[in-house]
Amino acid sequence: MFIEPHINNEKRGWIEVICGSMFSGKTEELIRRMKRARIANLKTEIFKPAIDNRYDEMNVVSHDENIIVSQPVQHSQNILLLIHDADVIGIDEAQFFDDGIVHVCEHLAISGKRVIVTGLDMDYLGRPFGPVPQLLAIADYITKLHAICVHCGNIASISYRKTKQSAQVVLGELDIYEPRCRVCYAKGDKI
Ligand SMILES: [Zn+2]
Repeated sequence: MFIEPHINNEKRGWIEVICGSMFSGKTEELIRRMKRARIANLKTEIFKPAIDNRYDEMNVVSHDENIIVSQPVQHSQNILLLIHDADVIGIDEAQFFDDGIVHVCEHLAISGKRVIVTGLDMDYLGRPFGPVPQLLAIADYITKLHAICVHCGNIASISYRKTKQSAQVVLGELDIYEPRCRVCYAKGDKI
């Protein structure tokens, strides 16, 4: 399925990517930007992958319980079908979307939308995660957030998995993951 973008000559859109490890505040930052857009009377909509149901089916809820309504979608292309007349589009947890999300973001930007995407840049092994590296490549603005290493207090950039599960996607919070700096990550379970 290919939906032709409506090129908007009056209004220029762009793509912002907020990346970083778990517990770095990506969703909080997305919510902060969306709230400011709403204060300016811009219409906003947020989408997230249907896989991420850790908190709530219909809401994007950040770790500090800051709630903003979102729509879970199964496939990235559904965003183009579901979208209304929003000026600002939020896309949360982009690492769980299919690769088509890259085209969806470009489509929206060409149509004059401001697109704000959050995503884990690395998985629990420090490997580039899903479509996020591609999104970083096409982004107009990039914000890389950091968590704090729970072992030494330095800047943390990797989500260390405390369990032995080896699938790339294992949903969880502090029960399964902890933010670590490079050095503490390299120490593994010998810490
Ligand atoms: Zn550390």
